[in-house]
Amino acid sequence: MLSGARRRTGGRTHGETATGATRLPLGLLDEVPVAVVALRGDDVVFANAAAHRLGIVRGTFLVVAELRQTARLVRRDGLRREITLTLPSAQLSPTRIPVRAEVFLLGGDEVGAVVEDQTEASRVEAVRRDFVANVGHEVKTPVGAIALLAEALKEARDDPVAVARFVDRIAVETQRLSRLVQELLDLSRLQGGEPLPEMTVIGVDAVVNEVVERMSPMADAKQVRLVVDGESGLAVLGDAGQLAMALANLIDNAISYSAPGSRVALTAKCREDVVELVVADQGVGIAHVDLVRVFERFYRVDPARSRETGGTGLGLAIVKHVMNNHGGEVTVWSTPGVGSTFTLRLPEAAAADGGGQPG
Ligand code: ADP
Repeated sequence: MLSGARRRTGGRTHGETATGATRLPLGLLDEVPVAVVALRGDDVVFANAAAHRLGIVRGTFLVVAELRQTARLVRRDGLRREITLTLPSAQLSPTRIPVRAEVFLLGGDEVGAVVEDQTEASRVEAVRRDFVANVGHEVKTPVGAIALLAEALKEARDDPVAVARFVDRIAVETQRLSRLVQELLDLSRLQGGEPLPEMTVIGVDAVVNEVVERMSPMADAKQVRLVVDGESGLAVLGDAGQLAMALANLIDNAISYSAPGSRVALTAKCREDVVELVVADQGVGIAHVDLVRVFERFYRVDPARSRETGGTGLGLAIVKHVMNNHGGEVTVWSTPGVGSTFTLRLPEAAAADGGGQPG
């Protein structure tokens, strides 16, 4: 797409040398994601497609006052300038687009500007800031509790009953802290975008059996019946450790958010080359407004309850990343007071083999 602002200037196209020897294919600049604008005086003599998309140029007019102002300063003293500003969104929305602009002298009275949309960079930075703040907060709680308990322990050293109680509570807080650290490490490994350690054909039965064996003591302690049914002999392509971790996280939640006497069912099935592992509980359920957020890091519907169960708010974020790494997905259905069903979907090994490795 060629912009309306690009025009012949002084008998030659912009980018052509005085001898006409070098002809810069200006159409190339329509392919770059940053906005590129050239001004002669206050007139726009070149603008690429991104400049039009960002809405900073109309005809031969540079519509952003700050940019016009900066271009004049650059033309006057020849010094390159970098500015950050926000632009109104093209879609009549109240949100503004953060941009970073570099303005520099091209020669004579011509000034160039390169303007970069910072929306994605700002979003990533905000997520990073939130994450660091959340980690700090999550670590502070058990560490603060351990400090207080150690203090109380010193006071109570002559009372063996109190000492035993405080030591038990220190053990609980230490476990919480070590689980948090372990899950943070798992998450950072999964998010690293590293290729999976080993994509092998995995028997689903073996993963299910291992996870059920691991989670049975927890189900028994909570008097929740853990039942397995569905098809056997299914296979997927992936990393057995990661898949077991994802499934265990779902079963851990299903048990944690269920009342004694209820049932958690794990069903394996295959539909059109897709293996489904379904974890269904009859627990507290999740309200519709929270459903879309439960896969976010540190999101908890009821923080007090989650703390009681030793939850970190990272379990489902880990599940989501494991599924992404396997070319699969995790979905949830839930009704408060009725229960929740989480479904892991993965390409069946034979189908995945044919279509190349996922992840
Ligand atoms: P947590 O470690 O707090 O369980 P998760 O990331 O595993 O963190 O889950 C996020 C939140 O989603 C939980 O705090 C809980 O509120 C909700 N949740 C997850 N699984 C279930 C479930 N099976 N039943 C009810 N609520 C659940």
